Amino acid sequence: MADLIDISTRIIDSGVVDQMVNRVTNELSELGDDLAIIESFSHCVAFDSGDGVVCFDASGVHTGEAVVAALKKWRTDRVANLVYTHGHADHVGGSTYFAADQPTVTGHRNVNTRLDRYDYTNNWNLIINARQFGGVSGQLNLSIGEAQGGATIDIADARRFLPSTTLRPTDTFDADHTMTVGDTTIELHHARGETDDHLWAWLPNRKWLMAGDFVIWNFPNAGNPQKVQRYPAEWAAALRSMIAVGPELLVPAHGLPIAGRQRIATVLGEIADTLETLVADVIALMNQGASLDTIIHTVSVPAETLAKPYLRPMYDEPEFVIRNIWRQYGGWWDGAASRLKPSPDAQLATVIAELA
Ligand SMILES: [Zn+2]
Repeated sequence: MADLIDISTRIIDSGVVDQMVNRVTNELSELGDDLAIIESFSHCVAFDSGDGVVCFDASGVHTGEAVVAALKKWRTDRVANLVYTHGHADHVGGSTYFAADQPTVTGHRNVNTRLDRYDYTNNWNLIINARQFGGVSGQLNLSIGEAQGGATIDIADARRFLPSTTLRPTDTFDADHTMTVGDTTIELHHARGETDDHLWAWLPNRKWLMAGDFVIWNFPNAGNPQKVQRYPAEWAAALRSMIAVGPELLVPAHGLPIAGRQRIATVLGEIADTLETLVADVIALMNQGASLDTIIHTVSVPAETLAKPYLRPMYDEPEFVIRNIWRQYGGWWDGAASRLKPSPDAQLATVIAELA
């Protein structure tokens, strides 16, 4: 059992990433007597309330079975509650393997809206995820869609982005929600960031915070080129709210858990600063009438910021986030006359070839 807190403390305090921080081992590590994390894609965080196990996220289609196997070696008790930090496939796709326990599934109301959208745009999601993850799935088992037809997943689901057996939230809420499990209170707070259906969970008696994808040990995934709108300014605001409650332990859905109130505040504060500055810089130039081209080649994030262990641009990067900020506040057109109603690519290519 790896001491994940030791690893994360060393990496954060030294600023040196000397080993993988996003590990897909499907192995369980205890973070306390009654709290464990199964590192996967995404992680499942499990809390033994004394009155049933509460799990935060179900991991993905490919990893859910191994995650539940690791969980059941730790506690044979029923999973009474399954909380989705948000509805991305790598967080809900493994829920089929939790179904035998018949957990109460809790999530923001927009999780169900998302799952409806995934049905409506099923093939689109298969195509973009093959493009995004296809090149690495064989080695790292990182693909998140398209079930292979496992023991409990029907073969008819083989070409579905999410299996039809994915558990949908039945316990939904809008802004805030409080759950009581055993004698523990769990507060759920909605905020937009990577998605419009995100929550972060706060256990005030323990000072534990489950951060979902608000912290991923990479540059915030706020600009993903193939995905719907993301919300960098609101993301930063959510991080500020997390600092304000004073967590002593922060467990994200990707990357390592972080311990220590001051250390957590530093990490969250630096991510928030980075997003806030990026948004402010883009908006300032938009207000001056700058084109997207100008903004992309003017606004940047300092290299020392991008070198932080939890801000490295390995999954998303500032340029993509700038495009997303432009889209959120300004629409899809980049302001160049030639790209408002452009000629077909083939016609343009022919003209360029002739000129050459
Ligand atoms: Zn995720």
